[in-house]
Amino acid sequence: MIGLKGKNALVTGATSGIGQAIAIRLAQEGCNIAINYRSDREAAVDTEKIALEKACENIENCGVKSLLVQGDVSQESDIVEMVNTVVKEFGSLDILVNNAGIQIESPSHEVTTADFDWVIAVNLRGAYLCSRETIKHLLSLNRSGVIINISSVHEIIPRPMFVSYSISKGGMENLTKTLALEYASQGIRVNAIAPGATITPINQDWIDNPEKKAMVESHIPMRRAGSSEEMAGVVAFLASNEAAYITGQTLFVDGGLSLYADFRENWSA
Ligand code: NAD
Repeated sequence: MIGLKGKNALVTGATSGIGQAIAIRLAQEGCNIAINYRSDREAAVDTEKIALEKACENIENCGVKSLLVQGDVSQESDIVEMVNTVVKEFGSLDILVNNAGIQIESPSHEVTTADFDWVIAVNLRGAYLCSRETIKHLLSLNRSGVIINISSVHEIIPRPMFVSYSISKGGMENLTKTLALEYASQGIRVNAIAPGATITPINQDWIDNPEKKAMVESHIPMRRAGSSEEMAGVVAFLASNEAAYITGQTLFVDGGLSLYADFRENWSA
């Protein structure tokens, strides 16, 4: 895609699922990739290996640079250090993908304050703080850049039993729009994708169970879950110059899940 070759990208939570696919895809598009991991360095090494194998014909002489950056996005000091490290190693940071995310299931009236705060700290505050540090850096160099938030269909669809997750993604919609509006004139674009049900470790519970999987897919108009690679392709598009005039938007990548599937058939008079 136009405008990605040689750009420096940081993907948070890039050791599995959607984040891993995004790191791989951006490397294939010629970006230098910083792979953030919280604790599983081995998984980060695997991501790096796959990305470089796919991006380069000759790994010894590859145009794509890679970097592993440890950091817990619920910790402000980790985020500041992570962005500084990427800037120091790559010279600048052009593309930030806020992908790291967690969910904790519980009836809303039983959620502990600690669990609530944890989900918000990773999914929402982490995305904000990573964006804040990236924007500071871009403004200091008078440089344009791109931020992409990995939201969810639960940005707009309420999700009982996952109240903190639902709130975090609802907040992400406003984060995307607010930052997009505030920095549009300085050449910083901020967009989001909202994945529907996607085959990743976060959904292990139903992926490996044919009955549960069929149940999930029966609610999706396109009758199948999405893949991480399908999410990564849309992220690459939004990061590229093909999307140069798009900012403040959430693109739903969900097989029609957000289209009020119950209205497929007429159930009113
Ligand atoms: P996943 O569990 O495979 O990936 C989540 C990643 O975030 C992991 O690499 C994990 O190590 C990392 N992470 C968690 N806490 C972290 C922290 N404190 N600091 C740094 N990294 C941390 O799941 P996934 O499905 O690939 O999820 C990626 C994103 O996509 C999440 O934001 C999730 O909410 C969103 N999403 C997923 C789906 C889906 O169906 N899979 C649907 C909608 C949105």
